[in-house]
Amino acid sequence: MHGVQRLRFRLPPRIGAAALVCGAAVVAAVGCAAPDIDGAAEIARASQAMGAANLKTLRYTADGTGYTFGQAFVPGMPWPKITVHAMTRSLNYDTASMRDEITLSRAEPRGGGGYPLQGEQRNDQFVSGALAWNQAAAGAAAGPRFVADRVHQLWITPHGVLKAAQRNKAAAQTRSEGGATVTALKFGEPGRFEATVIVGADGLVQRVESRVPDAVLGEVDVVTRYSGYRDAGGVRFPGRIEQSVAGHPVLELAVREVQPNAAVDIAVPDAVRSAAERVTTDKLADGVWYVGGGSHHSVAIEMRDHLVLVEAPLNDGRTAPVIAAVKALAPGKPIRYVINSHSHFDHSGGLRAAVAEGATVVTQAANVAYFERAFATPARIAPDRLAQSGRRAAFLAVNDKASLSDGARTIDIHRITGSVHNDSFLMVHLPNEKILIEADAYTPQPPNAQPPAVPNANNVNLIDNIERLKLQVERIAPLHGRVVPLAELYSTARRSPAR
Ligand SMILES: [Zn+2]
Repeated sequence: MHGVQRLRFRLPPRIGAAALVCGAAVVAAVGCAAPDIDGAAEIARASQAMGAANLKTLRYTADGTGYTFGQAFVPGMPWPKITVHAMTRSLNYDTASMRDEITLSRAEPRGGGGYPLQGEQRNDQFVSGALAWNQAAAGAAAGPRFVADRVHQLWITPHGVLKAAQRNKAAAQTRSEGGATVTALKFGEPGRFEATVIVGADGLVQRVESRVPDAVLGEVDVVTRYSGYRDAGGVRFPGRIEQSVAGHPVLELAVREVQPNAAVDIAVPDAVRSAAERVTTDKLADGVWYVGGGSHHSVAIEMRDHLVLVEAPLNDGRTAPVIAAVKALAPGKPIRYVINSHSHFDHSGGLRAAVAEGATVVTQAANVAYFERAFATPARIAPDRLAQSGRRAAFLAVNDKASLSDGARTIDIHRITGSVHNDSFLMVHLPNEKILIEADAYTPQPPNAQPPAVPNANNVNLIDNIERLKLQVERIAPLHGRVVPLAELYSTARRSPAR
């Protein structure tokens, strides 16, 4: 099969000329493309070499290093490092489902990610068809925001990507890379991702370059490298998996064990199948509402002739219904400002929807250039609200402090300094209402829980900032959890309020 491909490559003079150009390009190590060859034949050749044809399920275990995409300490910095103590990935290609069981811990204190500052965390993550969920002790929690990434991950696995290439009738080209001839299979999974699969002369999948929709960046480039192939019961599987997203590494795994055609039965829990986005609005004070109902909350504030939305989290799927609910609280008033607590993607993924709505983004100054570039990136693969609106983002940059006022109500926006969670971090204070709005610096424990023996560094840092700025606070409206009196922050951090 490979010989046939070479023959085709050498025969026509036009291709010969391309090969010559390729020869020059090899020096620059950039590779180059020759005209199309038979895509179906190339997929068949790779499937044969990889043992993909009769592979319906696969399970592998691995360990190594991970990095938390979207949770950088400073926007543009590498993603924060984590240790992947163990990861078991179970794949069922026939039912388009995947389960990841991961035990991890932080490898550096700075940055976000929802992982404890100390100790290990166990995550159990699923996707099946167009549904994603996480399994926790309390039950299955639907995670619609994880669908795009998990569907993508499932179909760029070494064998999954060949099945996806076949399903989507990939076009094939030969390329010269580093002195070797490789095949590039190019395809799009409609509405999900685009991919180029680099297959070596031996028929093994070396690399997948893909592009995926992203709630903050519009679309993002992912490079996944597979190397150190070994045989596992007639199936070839890499011993090493490396992945980068938006130019920074997210995964460096050593594969320990591979089980082809293992029993992988993944059933969608009823609670996940019937889950719908829920938005609740609870009045905190005149013209101030706590907008909850999901994992990431917002606060709506009514001004004389407009509304201010504090936080546009997750994605269009969350922020669009939040915007609709907030506008219904004060009919006729537009949302003129959206205040962003910080650049972590789970807290900024709805900003594009808010920009589409015409809101000016209020964010810490260090985030502006990053968001500007991100929001100018068109979402082509899965056009979002911003793409459909054709709007451009407007920003109001906050250094250490900014205020929004209509003459009656004041909204003070302060920078949280000295945090390990994020460097360009804002909190919102309503001085008249004595309400503090913050994200991730403090998430209240369940009612009546014992304070942790070692106070959480983020909680302590928030107290330091409240005291440094001498803020008058009676209640905290956290963007995770529930509204609590200030005293609860102090008792959780085992501190006494300053007199
Ligand atoms: Zn965060």
